[in-house]
Amino acid sequence: MFPSFSPWLHRSLLAGTALLLAPLGCATSTQSAARDEAILRMDAPPQVKPKWGLVIHGGAGVISRENLSPEREAAMRAVLTQALQAGHAVLAKGGKSLDAVTAAIHVLEDSPYFNAGKGAVFNHDGVNELDAAVMDGKTRAAGAVAGVRHIQNPIDLARLVMEKSPHVMMVGDGAEAFAQSQGMPLVDAKYFYTEERWQGLQRALAEEKAKTAQPATPATPPATPEQQQPVTPGTPAAPPMTPGTQAAPPVAPGTQAAPPATPGKQAAPPAAPGTSATPPVTPGTPAAPPATPGKQSAPPTAPGTQAAPPAKPGTPATPPTTPGTPAAPPAKPGTQAAAPLTPGVDPITGDHKFGTVGAVALDQEGHLAAGTSTGGMTNKRFGRVGDSPIIGAGTYADERCAVSATGHGEFFIRYTVARDICARVEYQDLPLPEAANFVIHDVLVKAGGEGGVIAMDREGHVAMPFNSSGMYRGYIGEDGTPTVAIFQQP
Ligand code: ASP
Repeated sequence: MFPSFSPWLHRSLLAGTALLLAPLGCATSTQSAARDEAILRMDAPPQVKPKWGLVIHGGAGVISRENLSPEREAAMRAVLTQALQAGHAVLAKGGKSLDAVTAAIHVLEDSPYFNAGKGAVFNHDGVNELDAAVMDGKTRAAGAVAGVRHIQNPIDLARLVMEKSPHVMMVGDGAEAFAQSQGMPLVDAKYFYTEERWQGLQRALAEEKAKTAQPATPATPPATPEQQQPVTPGTPAAPPMTPGTQAAPPVAPGTQAAPPATPGKQAAPPAAPGTSATPPVTPGTPAAPPATPGKQSAPPTAPGTQAAPPAKPGTPATPPTTPGTPAAPPAKPGTQAAAPLTPGVDPITGDHKFGTVGAVALDQEGHLAAGTSTGGMTNKRFGRVGDSPIIGAGTYADERCAVSATGHGEFFIRYTVARDICARVEYQDLPLPEAANFVIHDVLVKAGGEGGVIAMDREGHVAMPFNSSGMYRGYIGEDGTPTVAIFQQP
């Protein structure tokens, strides 16, 4: 079909991957969703290289047409379009790529449909802990926040860290105290409550419970001193592992073995003897429960009005209790080991997906920027931080390449995905789409890591490969025509 294209292009097209992007000069505002998909898969090859533009994502994962209602799909496409237009408005008037990135992410954070800001998923304890990062490719200035609970738009706080502090990354209460010192109001945690995400957690907890209730393969008892082989420091005692799995450490006496790692999943370590896998709940520090059980929560605290104080360090909040859908009780000391992270399950679509949001942009001056914002992964453990706020893993920008990622964060951290793509562009002089495709379809697939990236180079080339069945994504160039896609195939 494209005889002149290189093999990676063929492979990626077959895999339904979005590639080097068309400038979209001939697109009209009435183009259909199918045409959008075709353009994003480069069925319409580029004629003119775009000089500036913006690419966004709203998360990758198992997203199937059958499970996404037309109404829901239309609503999500509308928000993606709005985000593209917000970023475009900045770029069109000569604004900075950094401003375009934050403007686009703002729109996505304010939507309940995406796993960031308002639509953030719940952790194991029924609390929303949000992460975000932003990076300016021109200066390599970067800012990131992790584990914040009362920040309406974490991307703004990441930017404040970048611009108003000497640091790159701040977490939890410290990050929130810094926000207040900069005049950013905190919002009550109940702002982040959505019934959909809450039900997603309940399903993940039920799945986890079902898995841990299965008759466990008896754990290998610890070796007696006589049986133990001397371990030379630096040499692994464990047998070779299947790529993409991580060996569980030996099970301590009196604790339950973690479920065996499935390829591509990371096994959780067992709870230490006498400790609990889940931090204990401190009575009296409730997470904001829904105003009416089972109903949408009250609107956020208005700026300048009373904000919820940050939770005390180390005292996870009590999950809001929805009648009939009990939250998981805290692990009994010494008995429960954490199950593997469950990717977010959308109770409406029934799909597994991640849902993080991100943007990369090239401005008229030729400078790149990247940003990412997320609620992390449903049922993550208290304090878990994914790749999104880690510079070089989920977010990265330099003078020739910008990347924002979405997917199973632990893999993106271990494979430094964002920086790996840009390093291949820098050191190997690879075209950006080739570098991005290789990392997502080869490196990550071999490792068992699911997800995707959006990426842009300083010439305006775009790549948006993903190895899951779908990724919410979109592009807008100089002509201002937004193009949005979700699935692999039109
Ligand atoms: N990468 C995010 C994380 O692991 C999840 C996502 O992309 O939705 O926290």
